[in-house]
Amino acid sequence: MSDHSTDLRNAALQSKILQGKRALIIGIANEHSIAYGCARVFRQLGAELAVTYLNEKSRAYVEPLAQELEASILAPCDVAREGELEAVFQQIRDTWGGLDVALHSIAFAPKDDLHGRVVDSSADGFKVAMDISCHSFIRMARLAEPLMTDGGTLLAMSYHGANKVVPNYNLMGPVKAALESAVRYLAYELGDKHIRVHAISPGPLKTRAASGLKDFDVLLSEAIERAPIGELVDIDDVGLTTAYLTTPFARRLTGTTTYVDGGLSIMA
Ligand code: NAD
Repeated sequence: MSDHSTDLRNAALQSKILQGKRALIIGIANEHSIAYGCARVFRQLGAELAVTYLNEKSRAYVEPLAQELEASILAPCDVAREGELEAVFQQIRDTWGGLDVALHSIAFAPKDDLHGRVVDSSADGFKVAMDISCHSFIRMARLAEPLMTDGGTLLAMSYHGANKVVPNYNLMGPVKAALESAVRYLAYELGDKHIRVHAISPGPLKTRAASGLKDFDVLLSEAIERAPIGELVDIDDVGLTTAYLTTPFARRLTGTTTYVDGGLSIMA
């Protein structure tokens, strides 16, 4: 990125446009996580944060980041464990009494199913991938709705493999397609409450989840070669666009999938 472009990004981060906003962030595993980039930008723009970690093992990585982000709430949340997501929302109700933004930045598929053909995917693998990566977003929306009394924004991370075939994305393609469709239906159902719902579709980023995909390095090098902007996106880029979607600048936008990919997805 040029110095000028970096200066502009830093200038944008001086605004306190999210001051007074309360944001739940689900999906920080470490400092490379897309959710961490979003949380860092939200915080810099003035938001108060609630941060979750998957389990005790991941707590060691997430807790120092939550401290650095001055998170008001730090709670465990494995969406596959009954009651954990509900407990997070109860803590938000007890601490804040309301919520303005909820970010879902999680995905999972069992390894055999992720690495095999979609044709061969098991019913169980498909169910687990769909539950953790898609239906948990619907559950999150249901829990957020009564807390978003002044409207709000629900955000989910998707990927271009939802709409076009990306070799090795496999089972996650249909799962992300369902996620993007769910975003549209939730936007329709919650619109009258001024709860806006968005999918964000980042270009490839080197994270732990991405390292589970076969030949991910090829996707990264192709992104640099083929994207009109000619550079990889970073987690702060995703954070800035995601933050924009929560602001009044985007108050008439809902149900969209916004690409943050340097234009990669427009290429044939
Ligand atoms: P990451 O590994 O940093 O984050 C994935 C997160 O999912 C982790 O925090 C993990 O704890 C969480 N998770 C998995 N199972 C869970 C469960 N049962 N309950 C709660 N949390 C669970 O990787 P990332 O790349 O930052 O992924 C975040 C999101 O971004 C995912 O939805 C991913 O599909 C999407 N995405 C990633 C890329 C990329 O290239 N990295 C591109 C587009 C979209």
